[in-house]
Amino acid sequence: MSSPNIKAPAEIVSINPADGSEAGRVPETSPADLDAIVAAAWTAYRTSGWKDLMPHKRAEVLRAIADGLEAEKEDLARKQMRDNGKPLSECRGMVDYAVGTFRYYASACETLETEVTPPRGPYVSMTVLEPHGVVVAITPWNSPLMNDATKVAPALAAGNAVILKPSEDAPLLAPELLRVARARGLPEGLLQVIQGRGAAIGSALVSHPGVSMVSFTGGTETGRTIGVLAACKIMPVALELGGKSPHVVFADARRDLAVAAVIAGIFGSAGQSCVAGSRVFIEASIYDEVLAAIVARARTIRLAAPDAEGVEMGPLASFHHRERVEAFVARAQSEGGRILCGGARPEGAAYASGAYYPPTVIDGLGPDSLTCQEEAFGPVLVALPFADEADLIDQANGTAFGLACGIWTEDFRKGWRVGRALEAGSVWINTYKQSVTTTPFGGFKSSGIGREKGMDGLRLYTQVKSMYFGLQEAPFPVSK
Ligand code: NAD
Repeated sequence: MSSPNIKAPAEIVSINPADGSEAGRVPETSPADLDAIVAAAWTAYRTSGWKDLMPHKRAEVLRAIADGLEAEKEDLARKQMRDNGKPLSECRGMVDYAVGTFRYYASACETLETEVTPPRGPYVSMTVLEPHGVVVAITPWNSPLMNDATKVAPALAAGNAVILKPSEDAPLLAPELLRVARARGLPEGLLQVIQGRGAAIGSALVSHPGVSMVSFTGGTETGRTIGVLAACKIMPVALELGGKSPHVVFADARRDLAVAAVIAGIFGSAGQSCVAGSRVFIEASIYDEVLAAIVARARTIRLAAPDAEGVEMGPLASFHHRERVEAFVARAQSEGGRILCGGARPEGAAYASGAYYPPTVIDGLGPDSLTCQEEAFGPVLVALPFADEADLIDQANGTAFGLACGIWTEDFRKGWRVGRALEAGSVWINTYKQSVTTTPFGGFKSSGIGREKGMDGLRLYTQVKSMYFGLQEAPFPVSK
């Protein structure tokens, strides 16, 4: 019998949004344990020899971690599916992405070059790249393993120790990554996982004096809070935040391709994607026709259990997130928006116990409405007409965000011109939502600071040190 004075350790329970069942549980980290966790990270950083390994030796371990993840692909994909409700095929893709990211950063750390800088005196000068020390990685719930790998792989490749804090709404994958990394040879303490609610443990971790750098992916308001905490410590911070990305269809576009991309760009991952193309701008002369095609296709999207045959959209990631999306749509209606499809929970036994919400298309709102300004992070598309290029650029740039955009036109000069004018970190011309581990990714404006992925994503976890080797034969004069 347990003593009434001994409190059971708190746990975070993950609920499968497809049916409300328990997907798993993890122990919640106590803020009282943070000192020991940060100290263990520094011990591993200083004594494991990891940061001083030749890059090709670090690369061997990173490749082994990739192999370990790949070997467990199906189990990991199914665990993520239960954790946040994404269709199984997408979850398999997320594991592939994580595998590719570890392999890419293995190669990148072997080939990362530094500079010999032009001397202006009797010395040889050069740069070297040093790790930050203890890096904190904080990730959201929409793509846990993918977002975890995007931070952990380059941070380790650069020689850091990493403390990973996944979202309390999708906590099950980070411990799996840790388990695989340890089993595949990563020295103990170099990667640790803490679990808990952001405001409780996340802020305490970011503020901890032993933390050297923070890399955050999540909502813009949380990013602002973390940015302020980092500024108080004069600590480097990378912020990958939200978006309200414009997806533009010009009159000369290939309409079949454009409509399919607009649909995939917003309803893929049930709109729970930072780069979701949540505002579609359609040239006025083809507005009615293209909007009708979008609505017709949205109505046929197969909304089903994440492992159902032919599923195109699963449930939202949690029941409370569905309530947020419902509130967003209700406000759109109160602003005068016309719901062209969706807009209410789907009916039927198949949907009764899950957090399902249908593809929703809204129009009739101005670009300054809150619906067009704020992120829904759900399957909600708002359509707007534009008169010409100048009008489009004005409307599309008229939000606080600047994460991504898509442009459909057969005129490559126009694609280039408009792509340069739109304020976004990623521009897709005649394609959408391509996001690869080899190409930098990040936001303009309130969508973030810093770039992940590609070689920028490795440099992010390093700091530049300048080294001078003196060649002078005579003693320095006190004053030149
Ligand atoms: P969120 O900001 O609520 O939480 C993200 C993470 O931050 C979680 O781990 C959470 O526990 C933690 N957190 C919350 N408050 C904190 C605090 N005060 N201090 C430290 N940590 C804290 O975001 P979410 O709801 O999990 O994810 C959705 C958001 O993430 C959307 O806005 C989406 O656009 C964004 N997102 C951005 C990208 C990108 O790369 N730009 C990718 C995916 C998601």
